[in-house]
Amino acid sequence: MRKRMFLFLKYLCKTLPVAILLFCFGMNYFCKSTGLKNTSGAPPEPVDSGLSDSDSIELIRVKENVWVHRSSGFFKGEKIPANGLIAVTSKGIVIVDTPWTEKQTENLILAVKEKFQKEISFVIITHAHADRITGAGIFIKQSVPVYSTSLTAKEAEKKGFPKPNPKLDLDPRMSLGDTGLEVYYPGQGHTKDNIVVWLPNTHILFTGCLVKSLESKSLGNIEDANLNAWPMTAKNLLERYPDAEIVVPGHGDWGKSDLIRHTIRLLNENSKTE
Ligand SMILES: [Zn+2]
Repeated sequence: MRKRMFLFLKYLCKTLPVAILLFCFGMNYFCKSTGLKNTSGAPPEPVDSGLSDSDSIELIRVKENVWVHRSSGFFKGEKIPANGLIAVTSKGIVIVDTPWTEKQTENLILAVKEKFQKEISFVIITHAHADRITGAGIFIKQSVPVYSTSLTAKEAEKKGFPKPNPKLDLDPRMSLGDTGLEVYYPGQGHTKDNIVVWLPNTHILFTGCLVKSLESKSLGNIEDANLNAWPMTAKNLLERYPDAEIVVPGHGDWGKSDLIRHTIRLLNENSKTE
């Protein structure tokens, strides 16, 4: 009997570490496979993870009261997720860029109101492309002001999108309640009108499609790009925001300023192959 017990314990000692190792490996794989990275270290809090549903949107916390809204659309037949930003302030909510579709925008408005129990004060559009501006009409219909630069307003009109109020030329710095906000035009790049949004309280820089995520191996949609000006425009961002802690690109995962350097590398590679 004692010998049997001894053999059993010996077997347990041999197999337990392997079992623990397998469990840890499995958990690690599961966390990675969700694809929800979060640079602040806090666990992401998706409100709706149904990206397979084309009308759904996802809310993911970036840092403190700043969240990303993520929706999916199609570019050249490929399904692509797009990021916009949500700043929850003491006085209301600021949204940067709309989702890809009007239905997703309606769902975003419902999700934001339900989750944060606050009104949306205004929306900022970073450039006149479908993944940034398609939902503008839904906000305007609900009497939520939609702001852009005059250049983006002009581009929007040309392309048949709803025209935002071009107030950002005059008011590049704004505040709402406890949250400051700056919009900055660093020059032409992904488009001729692309702007970025800086949140000084949290040191978050939302760059939209001007900056590529680290997993990007190409420059994405360059139909309206100025490839010659883009590298200098990206360098302007590095110079203006040396203390950016989190850089949120238009597509893919956010990270630090190395996303901007990665974009410059992609641009250099692209110019060599041309
Ligand atoms: Zn774009």
